[in-house]
Amino acid sequence: MGNYVVGIDLGGTKIYTALANLSGEIVAEEIEPTTKDETKLLHQLGRMVKGVIAKSAVPKEKVLGIGIGAPGTVDYRTGTLITAPNLPWQNYPLKINLQALLRLPVEVDNDANLAALGEYRYGAGRGHRDLVYVTVSTGIGAGIIIDGQLYRGSSGSAGELGHTIVEPGGPRCNCGRRGCLEVMASGTAIGERARQLVAEGFGQEILKLAQGNIEAINAKTVGEAFLAGDPEAKGILNEAAFYLGIGLANVVNLLNPSLIVLGGGVINIGEPFLELIREELAEKALPQPYKDLTVKKAVLGSKTGVMGAIALALERFS
Ligand SMILES: [Zn+2]
Repeated sequence: MGNYVVGIDLGGTKIYTALANLSGEIVAEEIEPTTKDETKLLHQLGRMVKGVIAKSAVPKEKVLGIGIGAPGTVDYRTGTLITAPNLPWQNYPLKINLQALLRLPVEVDNDANLAALGEYRYGAGRGHRDLVYVTVSTGIGAGIIIDGQLYRGSSGSAGELGHTIVEPGGPRCNCGRRGCLEVMASGTAIGERARQLVAEGFGQEILKLAQGNIEAINAKTVGEAFLAGDPEAKGILNEAAFYLGIGLANVVNLLNPSLIVLGGGVINIGEPFLELIREELAEKALPQPYKDLTVKKAVLGSKTGVMGAIALALERFS
């Protein structure tokens, strides 16, 4: 029997834990809702790791280590969660604490970085050496693979594509600055724009799809209306695609990747929305870096994060 690693995708709403062999094949897994209690959360992680090991009947000494992807700002070198708005932790030494609890080596990284690594090793990125993974959901984030290696930057915070400014003087972003890509084109921004439209008396098709409840309108509702041919929904998504086109063209001109992988809930609207983004990107990127570029949807779905965490553990411990 060979060796194994554990991958954990620690999300704000659920935790996905899996034990995998050295080929990255999952042999046991568990998914649980995320505990909102500061001290119980560490013990939940410990319990889930023991759970997948027990379920697989793999002896603990065959487990080489644990990779964890967490949302927010992570100091990769120390394994500390600096800020994680969706978790009950701040400046939390996750690596040290989980290592002490389980007596196994632990590595922690940002979830967008690990999603990039997951798609690179096991998903849409196979066969590419230079790719950028971009997630468009509640927020916007990116992970960068250069020459087969995750690029983290000098302080581990590379890939903050969501906070590149695409509309100077635009609306205020969560980060305190104005006109960030995230505030112009995230799922949150799309939902917000649609609710504004409805509040002004327009967007009746969108409102209908939300059963007449303006508060229930989100990016998914806008996506459904768009796919049903509603021109107002198309207008909102055209605008989001315009700003995503600016952000992605900057990435393409700067890094010249061979592949951009798009993931996250907003991208799940589907191929017609991807096509709007491709059109904007084609118009805005330089011809030379654009000519060999492929833009694809992520393929690992809900497994993207956990596969990235497994890939991190394999890189680090095997
Ligand atoms: Zn920002």
